[in-house]
Amino acid sequence: MICKQNIVITGFMGTGKSTVAVLIARKFNRPFIDTDQEIEKRLGTSINDIFSRGQEQLFRESERVLLKELSEQTNLVIATGGGTLLSRSSLQLLEQSSLFCLDASVDNLVQRLYNCASRPLLNHDNLRYDIENLLDDRRCNYQRIDQHISTDHLSPEEIATTIINRIEARNKAQITRSIKVQPRDLPPYPIFIAKDVLNRSAHLFKSIGASLEQVIIADSNLQEQSEKLRTHLLNHGFKTKLLSIDAQESEKTLVSAEILLRQLAEIRCSRASSIIAFGGGVVGDIGAFVAATYMRGLSIVQIPTTLLAMVDSSIGGKCGLNLQQSKNLIGVFKHPQAVIIDPCLLYSLPQQEVSAGLAEVIKHGLIGDEELLCMLEADAYNIEELIFRNLCVKAKIVAADSFEKDQRMLLNFGHTFGHAFESVSQHRIKHGPAVGLGMLVATRLAILMNQASEKLYIRIENLLTKHKLPISLNNILIDDVLSALELDKKHSQNNKHFIIPLAAQQLKIITNPPEILIRKAIESILYQDS
Ligand code: NAD
Repeated sequence: MICKQNIVITGFMGTGKSTVAVLIARKFNRPFIDTDQEIEKRLGTSINDIFSRGQEQLFRESERVLLKELSEQTNLVIATGGGTLLSRSSLQLLEQSSLFCLDASVDNLVQRLYNCASRPLLNHDNLRYDIENLLDDRRCNYQRIDQHISTDHLSPEEIATTIINRIEARNKAQITRSIKVQPRDLPPYPIFIAKDVLNRSAHLFKSIGASLEQVIIADSNLQEQSEKLRTHLLNHGFKTKLLSIDAQESEKTLVSAEILLRQLAEIRCSRASSIIAFGGGVVGDIGAFVAATYMRGLSIVQIPTTLLAMVDSSIGGKCGLNLQQSKNLIGVFKHPQAVIIDPCLLYSLPQQEVSAGLAEVIKHGLIGDEELLCMLEADAYNIEELIFRNLCVKAKIVAADSFEKDQRMLLNFGHTFGHAFESVSQHRIKHGPAVGLGMLVATRLAILMNQASEKLYIRIENLLTKHKLPISLNNILIDDVLSALELDKKHSQNNKHFIIPLAAQQLKIITNPPEILIRKAIESILYQDS
């Protein structure tokens, strides 16, 4: 049984959109719409004529009107024109559809379009040149579509079957919610919230066209679950191998990464393989680093198992390894192919790890979701809703600033001081609690600079206490914290950047606040055991 979502096939001219869409429509017994043909019918003239009269604008406007109408219907199979989804607004109209983009090499396009009737925007005498130029212009726009299928070596029937299989797999996967992360200039990727992934993830993998060869990098504390995941994938036709690592912050190093890279080479992991990171933030970070560097890059799917990883570290494509001098000093951006979140995996998570995740949730609430803060204050929330709200806050910021040039720095609220606490305590203080303490210090700094109120500090302190997170720190030397701060990645040349809150959902990046105030702010949470 297939859901009623429209199925939309798009892509460059000559990729076979209409032929494939007709086959899919037949299979599911649904109405088929070809947007180009429909517009020709409505305008009473051919598209070639419209373009040759210089009326492209009229054509695009008719497309928008038609797309709006189609987006209000269900159960359709739609083939669009090659330029239909180039604008963000058109793409948005079809966001609720099952959307596929067909790709083909330039050689194939030239071959396929050479004998066709003339097409707008292509000159028969300069066909290759025109195709290359138009593709260059459109590549970024096509990249915004998350499902791509290469048509080079497939017949229309095989392409239609691939699409049908993906749609059917997705329907079997019990996805309860999904959201798309759209990093600027990079392909988007989906985050699925789904139930029972240990027994259903094969469907999700098939629905995104993931590689059939996979290596799971798993937290060694999750042996039973990772074996179950592997067996499930093997039973569904995947060639899946399993490697385990000790998920401790002290192990998030180049040495651990090298051990894994050697293991990948030993098991003859090929370029066609994909990594599955199955664990908390430590496994997610090492897994992403390994995926980014082995053979210059494998794809990775993140299956986070801690709350912190579900709401934060598995999304956004950052990964970090620690150096002795400081935390996360080594790293790359490595966006996953997909993130699969199953809140049921949290059943076995110890309470202190749940609290650690809630520190990042409080951070996201303070950055951009007042309702999230209210849910935490009332201590009344549905975990799926809580995770989803966090994903929305983070996905929005990652989309606006994928490589942390400006706005994304706000996600580091609490992290500048937090990382210093983690390093100085040699990871006795874990990431979540350290971020909580870091948010308090940043807020104290804002108060000392007359930019925030004591009321805000008390609100954050109450939230942390309510969720069993520390609000003070013992046996740490202030000078050690100040030295660790020197290595923060946000500092540039002689400038030190900090994120402070002016109020809830109103954060600001400041540069070079007075050293004396930084010291005072840190001291306000430190105490020595007598
Ligand atoms: P973690 O990965 O160390 O996991 C915490 C503990 O929970 C471990 O002992 C682990 O074995 C255990 N565990 C994991 N899943 C479990 C489950 N389902 N049931 C029972 N036990 C389970 O820690 P974390 O808090 O998930 O992640 C912290 C790390 O994430 C830090 O290294 C931090 O720097 C990193 N991080 C990265 C980003 C990013 O954007 N890349 C963002 C935030 C944090």
